[in-house]
Amino acid sequence: MIEFELWYLVLLPLLFAAGWWLRGVDARQRRGEADSGPRAYFRGLNYLLNEQPDKAIDAFIEVVKLDPETIDLHFALGNLFRRRGEVDRAVRIHTHLLNRADLPARSRAEALAELGQDFLKGGLLDRAEDSFTRLLDEPRHRVDALRALLRIYQMEREWGKAIEVARRLEREAGESSHAQVAHFHCELAEKALAAKDEDDAAGHLEQALNVNRRSVRAAILAGDLAARRGDVERAIGHWRGVGEMNPDYLPLVAGRLADALDAAGRRDEALNFLRRSLLDHPSIDLLDVSHARVLAWENPAAAEALLRDELQRHPSLLGFERLLGSRAAAGFGDAPVEQLRTLIQAQARKLARYRCSKCGFRAREFHWQCPGCTSWDSYPPRRIEELDAQ
Ligand SMILES: [Zn+2]
Repeated sequence: MIEFELWYLVLLPLLFAAGWWLRGVDARQRRGEADSGPRAYFRGLNYLLNEQPDKAIDAFIEVVKLDPETIDLHFALGNLFRRRGEVDRAVRIHTHLLNRADLPARSRAEALAELGQDFLKGGLLDRAEDSFTRLLDEPRHRVDALRALLRIYQMEREWGKAIEVARRLEREAGESSHAQVAHFHCELAEKALAAKDEDDAAGHLEQALNVNRRSVRAAILAGDLAARRGDVERAIGHWRGVGEMNPDYLPLVAGRLADALDAAGRRDEALNFLRRSLLDHPSIDLLDVSHARVLAWENPAAAEALLRDELQRHPSLLGFERLLGSRAAAGFGDAPVEQLRTLIQAQARKLARYRCSKCGFRAREFHWQCPGCTSWDSYPPRRIEELDAQ
């Protein structure tokens, strides 16, 4: 792949040089000019072939001074350098273009857009933000600039600005990002909750549910907020709502919901809810949550029965690992069983991760936004063993 691009890097200027030569040979013959342009070209080419890209850039910059029609070559070279990860060189080429006083307005905007992409690729978010903000007045570049800014503000965790840009994108390009905007409000709500600003959190959760009625995350947080304000019934209502919106996400709230019911003196209801949910929407996480409560609220025998029943219905390595652990805790484990358990544990750890459905990034914790590819809602709330068994 890299070899292929290297050849492009050499071929592109060569093609430009050939075009230029054919175009200009008559005029130059008539005027009897010294042929300094192609010489600068071939010097640049020579540097490229000798893997001295910086000297090559100098030579090509000289060419563009002599012939403004080579602007396209500079865009092509800049792009190639950026794609090869040589961001500094791409920045140099695009900055040089941008600084040319005689550059047409159209090309100037294009150079600014390319420079923004260079900065983005190089992780210079402030400078990328600056480039794209300046492009907002350019009708031909506005939508792309808004898309880039949306990405940048998410990377910078500037959720307020991200919401503004998402709204503008919807207004101007009809690109809806309701699910994302709900997450931005949830991020702000979590921040407010951490700062103990409950009113601010409530405001953001209301807005999150306004833009996305089915925001599971907003429902979970609304339950958390209600619980914090001492309104247990309201919290229970919000968390139950999660199961109705999308039962796949039940494992994320089942523990909180069961504990709230128990605290309200409704332990039987809590246990029924857990057993029912496990039957209707089996999952390893739900099994863990249920097992812990049955063990604490009933007795070890009932907890083990729960594990055995579930394993019979849905055999899994993670489930067996739990069962062996429970047996060991009850004092039934002997040396070979313990050895087997150690072996299974090593495998279970790998199978117990969550995995992004977009990029495959694995994580020990559940994420609303993938740390690998920054997609939202790309983590199914299920462990890898379950995902692969489906
Ligand atoms: Zn991902």
